[in-house]
Amino acid sequence: MTVDSPGFATKAVHAARNQDAASSRATPIYLTAGFEFDDFDHAADHFGTGAGFGYTRTGNPTVRAVERQLAALESGADAVLVASGQAAVSTALLTVAGAGDHIVSSTHIYEGTRGLLLDNFARLGIETTFIDDIRDPDAWRAAIRPNTRALFAESIANARNDVLDIAAVSAVGDETAIPLIVDNTLGTPFLVRPLEHGAAIVVHSASKFLAGHGSVLGGVIVDDGRFDAAAAGHNAPHLVLPGRAGLASVAARHGGNARIAYARESVAPRFGASPSPLNAFLIGQGVETLGLRVERQSRNALEVARWLAAQDAVESVDYVGLESHPDHALATKYLGGGFGSIFTFTLKGGLDAARAFVQDVRVFTHMTHIGDVRSLVLHPGTTSHASRTEEEREILGVRPGTLRLSIGIEDVADLIADLTRVLEPAREAVA
Ligand SMILES: *Cc1c(COP(=O)(O)O)cnc(C)c1O
Repeated sequence: MTVDSPGFATKAVHAARNQDAASSRATPIYLTAGFEFDDFDHAADHFGTGAGFGYTRTGNPTVRAVERQLAALESGADAVLVASGQAAVSTALLTVAGAGDHIVSSTHIYEGTRGLLLDNFARLGIETTFIDDIRDPDAWRAAIRPNTRALFAESIANARNDVLDIAAVSAVGDETAIPLIVDNTLGTPFLVRPLEHGAAIVVHSASKFLAGHGSVLGGVIVDDGRFDAAAAGHNAPHLVLPGRAGLASVAARHGGNARIAYARESVAPRFGASPSPLNAFLIGQGVETLGLRVERQSRNALEVARWLAAQDAVESVDYVGLESHPDHALATKYLGGGFGSIFTFTLKGGLDAARAFVQDVRVFTHMTHIGDVRSLVLHPGTTSHASRTEEEREILGVRPGTLRLSIGIEDVADLIADLTRVLEPAREAVA
């Protein structure tokens, strides 16, 4: 405090200022809107180069720590943390595409992302072609146009548990220097790291497995740092042409990290979906136990899926961990340490049986969320996929009796006991 006899209000807002730094082992929570500059030149330097921290929307040490943690786990060069998974998807796509551009996307994607592409991006002049047969590289190739700026898919998709052949699809993109963006929310970097297989960018809803506790929303964009201005510059004029007022191009300033630098400088902070440092801290805490949780959840899920597949009341189980799943071989190639914990199964009793199921479960929680430590159930046909036509739902593997499970870390015997109790009346009804 620099004033000799500060008044009450001055003491209230200044007395705690400039505490000595201590070496906190856990990531400190920098819950502050901005950071004090050392001197006049420091402020000018920060605004000129972006180095250091000035204002939390453009950078914060707690957020930065989690970005480094997630970049490392995804084998990426750098990451940008944002406020939600949807913000991660929109930030990643707006980093590579603008008005007049085109995106090729798997049709087997999160409904919120589909809506973003169909409604919002369409109004911004960004058109999307959706691919149903994502296993066929020719289907991707045939959809690519001269103005295509990204291929987009999920590593493991809901509801059919389709697994993306990341190497095959990224190879199609490489033919014309188009980046593959993979939403790895269901896969998690514990099971699969798409950047190691040729994808250029990974996005996550950190609200799911990364946090794991289901108490915050968050999202992340991780980039491979392999942007090649010579090969891909024609697809990314905003990265290779000089900036406003003669500023050197993003590629000239950041080389292979041009994409993620552009996301950090020009997309995330401008559209403004900045994460709270407190939420960033909570995500970072979750990520520390990601491997333990996903390993356990995958083991539980496999046991539950096998059990369900053996029940008379159950018509089908779409879990990629089962040998009966059409993508089981692909899953074995790409996933290590388990097959994930989110899948659907279909009851023979249709809508009535599905309704009884969600009403009767006790250990499972009925809610729209996934990747939580708790086991969750949702009826996609009347919720997430209600706005689809019946024909579309059939293609997506969502039928009246279909239920989505997200298996948690509970004792698997308790999960199976819950399911046994609930399916017993259904079993009698079918018999
Ligand atoms: C939940 C989810 C999103 C959206 O994430 P939010 O954090 O809810 O904004 C995107 N993609 C997938 C695969 C998701 O499961």
